[in-house]
Amino acid sequence: MKVTEHITKAKKSLFSFEILPPIRGHDIKDIFSTLDPLMEFNPPFIDVTYHREEFIYVEKENGLLQRRKISRRPGTVGICAAIMNKYGVDAVPHLICGGFNKQMTENALIDLNFLGIDNVLVLRGDSIKSEKFFIAKKNGHKYAIELVKQVTNLNKGKYLDNTFFEQKKSPLFDFCIGVAGYPEKHLEAPNIDSDLFFLKKKVEAGADYIVTQMFFDNKKFFTFVKKCRSEGITVPIIPGIKPISSKKQLNSLPSRFYLNIPNELVKEVEKAKDKKIVSHIGIEWGIHQSKELKNSGVEVIHYYTMDKPENIYKIVQAIY
Ligand code: FAD
Repeated sequence: MKVTEHITKAKKSLFSFEILPPIRGHDIKDIFSTLDPLMEFNPPFIDVTYHREEFIYVEKENGLLQRRKISRRPGTVGICAAIMNKYGVDAVPHLICGGFNKQMTENALIDLNFLGIDNVLVLRGDSIKSEKFFIAKKNGHKYAIELVKQVTNLNKGKYLDNTFFEQKKSPLFDFCIGVAGYPEKHLEAPNIDSDLFFLKKKVEAGADYIVTQMFFDNKKFFTFVKKCRSEGITVPIIPGIKPISSKKQLNSLPSRFYLNIPNELVKEVEKAKDKKIVSHIGIEWGIHQSKELKNSGVEVIHYYTMDKPENIYKIVQAIY
């Protein structure tokens, strides 16, 4: 079922979350042990992130560097299929521009359709470590909006090239399309208004809903929603929440995701004597954020597990 249908049919605020495919070398049991405890809260859909290939440089015996391609977290589509098969819950694969050309994307969408997947979260993807700025693959997409347009076209029955293949009369595809939004703006955007301008374009191109980057101050989310609505963006906006779980994240999260952490939370975390206390503070903050969001009437709260389902479990237990 589509994410938007889940929202329309829901009688109360829903809970959903995002998982990462495990690092190469692990197996599906690791995913199930992340998911099992969270299933008691009946998530209507679960997102699975996509991680593109990276280049690493390995020093050879002669001292020269060899460039190698590695894929650390493969398996997004397989995990989606496993989730749907084991739990009967809708899985939402993330689909990115990076590393894909249009043909590869079309083939991936055909696979997803064959698997019975109804939703995709469409993203540009970040630049890989060896690149300073995002570089699209040859004949690929530079911005998420172009990928939204490709999915929308397929939803209308328009393949990249209809010349050589027999096509059924009615379109085979009907993906519900999610896109990313940034309450504190995307790191590359010159300002929030410019970012909102392009967010609106993604919605006009066919996006059905928005999931936000994580934030720690609900005021940022409420202001963002207000601005979106005043710009005429009417689709559901799903807030994304992540509890702090280590002191290191006070610096790593802002630099990686371009967000602010309120001073009150920073001070509390800095005072904490050990990781267990940091984790407790993060959970309490997450509960407080979630309660306020739920009371404000948001349709879904989306949690970033980032390989830490225990913290999410405690928050969701207090809220749902
Ligand atoms: P875009 O919408 O393309 O925007 C990128 C930047 O370009 C923005 O600054 C925007 O303002 C600007 N812009 C947009 N369109 C145009 C245009 N036409 N002309 C000029 N400027 C433009 N990354 C992964 O690799 N895998 C994942 O699974 C993943 N999941 C994510 C889930 C969520 C909920 C979020 C919020 C992010 C996720 N990301 C993921 C990270 C995401 O790929 C990065 O934040 C990326 O840098 C931007 O993606 P986007 O889809 O927002 O890009």
